Amino acid sequence: MTFAKPLKILVYPSFKHDYQVKRKQIAKSSTLWLSGRYFDDYTLYHVTGLTTVQSPQSIGVLTLEDSPLDVSKLQSIFNFPFLHATSTKDFINLKFRFYLSEGNTEVEFEFVNLDRLFVRIDQKETPLGELKKKKVAIIGMGSGGSLLALYLAKSGVKNFIFIDDDLLETHNIIRHICDLSQLGRFKTRAVKDYILARIPDVQIETIEQKFVLHTKKDFDFFLESLQGIDLIAAVSGEHDVNYAINDFVHTNQLAIPLVYAGTFAGVKGGLMFKVDPRKGDYCYHCVYAKPETGSSSIPTTIELEHKITYDRTLQEQLAQPGLGLDVDNLTLLLAKFCLDLLLTGIPHGLYHFPYNFYMWYNRTIKTSDQTAIKYDGLELYYYEDLTTDPTCPFHSTSSVPNFSSDINNPD
Ligand SMILES: [Zn+2]
Repeated sequence: MTFAKPLKILVYPSFKHDYQVKRKQIAKSSTLWLSGRYFDDYTLYHVTGLTTVQSPQSIGVLTLEDSPLDVSKLQSIFNFPFLHATSTKDFINLKFRFYLSEGNTEVEFEFVNLDRLFVRIDQKETPLGELKKKKVAIIGMGSGGSLLALYLAKSGVKNFIFIDDDLLETHNIIRHICDLSQLGRFKTRAVKDYILARIPDVQIETIEQKFVLHTKKDFDFFLESLQGIDLIAAVSGEHDVNYAINDFVHTNQLAIPLVYAGTFAGVKGGLMFKVDPRKGDYCYHCVYAKPETGSSSIPTTIELEHKITYDRTLQEQLAQPGLGLDVDNLTLLLAKFCLDLLLTGIPHGLYHFPYNFYMWYNRTIKTSDQTAIKYDGLELYYYEDLTTDPTCPFHSTSSVPNFSSDINNPD
């Protein structure tokens, strides 16, 4: 193989390792593992391992992704498997020299500087320094949860916990961010890898378990897992999970703001609302009373949503029709909603949501009394400030509920 011009290998940090650690390793002249991509105008060769021995000035071995130690493959591409490093003191622009059969070809390794990933959005409007410190738990890794995670990460949030016990199935693919290569994997892990391939220094813990509190063990586990969380995004679309989250946060008197969001049948529209226990706010139970406890008053907006969501046939429920773009449409606003809540009390130039409850539609719909709600572009259909429901056990003024009965079943 003859190379017409000096080559360049773009080296990006593998998500399996920490970039900063690798840079330190270079500085200490120890073994170095990198991943990257060799490219000329037409060809891509994936490079996952590059080892330097003793010092960056020493001999290294270039290996390939699919067969890390197959020297014959290396020879077919480079004719000779060894590199000679002619590094500068600036480790970011380490230069290597290939000894090829046709002669020496200098190859430049450009190390991707992760700091530059966010350079386009690093401005006053987006306080990246603040967002970087935040930790968000996302419960539900479906088409909404996965896109929410991606957009929060792309906005600068660096710490996450993903909670979901679902596996990625064929019928998910057309609306989910992950592709066919991830089929059969836990959604949590597939989404984690998807995000890390883009932003490698995001810290993501995953929990492959449904958020339910059947036993004391569940309760203790989630209490431990959600330490240090700044926001919980409840996007599973399942009421039992949302009740569990609500009960969990209020029983423990956790000062963690929450966002609940979901779509209506067929993704005709959706809603999102935030609950900030730090302000003694209303709760999920105030909005959707549990069937066994009942509620004398369902807010008007929720009553409307109830009819739209639950007056569907079984077939409709199972089919869950609706376009991915309609889910995404709602989710992008949800991401903004979450950022605004994460930045409470911190000056920022992002959109501020003055109300706690929002609902909107993707197309014209008819309510159960056949009244048409006309879809008008991206205009919100409804927003208001929800308040506490006096019949809610968490907000009753007349009695102190005994929460422990829900969660103290021994395992
Ligand atoms: Zn309540």
